[in-house]
Amino acid sequence: MSEPEPLRAVIARHDLAASKALGQNFILDRQLLARIAAVPGDLAGRTVYEVGPGPGGLTRALLDAGARVVAVERDRRCIAPLAELEAEFTGRLKVIEGDALEVDERSVAGEGAHVVANLPYNVGTALLLRWLGGEAWPPWWASLTLMFQREVVERIVAAPGSDHYGRLAVAAGWRSRARIAMLVHRSAFVPPPKVMSAVVHIVPEDAPDGVRHATIERLTAAAFGQRRKMLRQSLKELPGALDALTVEGIDPARRAETLGVADYVRVARRLDAT
Ligand code: SAM
Repeated sequence: MSEPEPLRAVIARHDLAASKALGQNFILDRQLLARIAAVPGDLAGRTVYEVGPGPGGLTRALLDAGARVVAVERDRRCIAPLAELEAEFTGRLKVIEGDALEVDERSVAGEGAHVVANLPYNVGTALLLRWLGGEAWPPWWASLTLMFQREVVERIVAAPGSDHYGRLAVAAGWRSRARIAMLVHRSAFVPPPKVMSAVVHIVPEDAPDGVRHATIERLTAAAFGQRRKMLRQSLKELPGALDALTVEGIDPARRAETLGVADYVRVARRLDAT
């Protein structure tokens, strides 16, 4: 098999100067891209939903790993290089030009797809919260492999008591398991961003019985909305919350960051039962 054209040459040939507005920081190192594509595990014959393929470096790594890829890219300039990949990997890549925030992933990628994305911060966290949300569980995706700035990944995997622990950690932890798969130095990107990045890998687990996602959301929004205050204060506007704390034996003088994910689940279940 001949070596693929260097990504730097693909970018030059298609005149893809990175757009700051679209949060474009491209990874050109094929070995690093192959390592990211390996995070979800064996992809042979599996569908991957990729968001923000850009010039297609990660896309090719996913195709080389044997995946069928459905990719959504907002930047029209990237459609031409992606069309070349579509032609090379006949029938295994489908590119959708559009905003990932407006795509119905379940219908374009199907049940059981692995999600892989290297996205700008704003779009990435919005999508992550959407994928972790909803009342239906298990979700349509089999795993999420997402590149973020490192600080965001630390918030996703944070343990109680740490400065990073908050709504995102509870959202990611109450019915799924999140781990840092790798750290990626800023110099790996063109152009290099100001901060370090990391890849988080998330897999769904069984959802606890008798707890609604909407309730976990309301509870953690109130608790962490005033994270320096005692729960007695931060939860006082949430009907039933202080009673639920008492019944569960949680001291209302504690602060939000001291409660574990299982504590939030217990309080939410109590709220849903009343
Ligand atoms: N996957 C490539 C890589 O790893 O080198 C590019 C990553 S770059 C950080 C982010 C990509 O997401 C860009 O190609 C950008 O155009 C695209 N993008 C930004 N916002 C998007 C959105 N709302 N929907 C789809 N793609 C988006």
